[in-house]
Amino acid sequence: MVNLTIDKKKVQAEEGSTILKAAQSNGIEIPTLCYHDELTTSGACRLCSVEIKKGERTRIVTSCIYQVEKGLIVNTQSERVMNVRRLVLQLLMARCPESEIIRELAEKVGVKPQPRFKPDEDKGECILCRQCVEVCEEVVEVSAIGFSYRGADKAVGTPFVEPSRACIGCGACAYVCPTGHIKMEESDSGKERVIWDKTFKMVACKVCGRYFAPQEQLEYIGKKTGVPLSKLYTCVNCR
Ligand code: SF4
Repeated sequence: MVNLTIDKKKVQAEEGSTILKAAQSNGIEIPTLCYHDELTTSGACRLCSVEIKKGERTRIVTSCIYQVEKGLIVNTQSERVMNVRRLVLQLLMARCPESEIIRELAEKVGVKPQPRFKPDEDKGECILCRQCVEVCEEVVEVSAIGFSYRGADKAVGTPFVEPSRACIGCGACAYVCPTGHIKMEESDSGKERVIWDKTFKMVACKVCGRYFAPQEQLEYIGKKTGVPLSKLYTCVNCR
């Protein structure tokens, strides 16, 4: 175990774990938007920046990727940290002015709704955190979405912004999206689901009749696991 100090509290963390994890397991809250336990950590949003002190030297690091070290002194609330957090939130608000979660976080640190940067309304609420791309690639393993363009034009989506043949409509990308940028809609009857401009027919559970998953998703699971499709036509609650 590694001994370190976070916000004047002496804590222990497993070797190789990150400052963010150490803080979380000791009840110390560090805001983050792009971090997900099950996915590769990219440190894209920078919201979890903290100040560390090693010897006489202090600096700002991204807590979701920075590993704990013996004797490290971490400050999650210093004036320097708060300035970084405010700046990050100003940028995020400029990019995604309608995002409720970003507005909430901004309000907490005193960032007013009028950002210092010109709002970019074309980008929706995407903060380019990569979580959707990673969940599709690493967990679902279909890689139906990715990034296109570079710099200020960088955007997430399907290849050529067309309905993707690879997408199985599982909705995992919408589930992990921290800002609600990815829209997944289901018809009132529940028979159809639309995501990434592709419409999926939903399958009704043969026991309770509830529409619970797209046909493509069940076929994909069947192929991957070898479970006969007929056995997959029952929802999780009725299995
Ligand atoms: S809905 Fe499509 S793009 Fe999203 S995670 Fe599932 S397969 Fe990937």
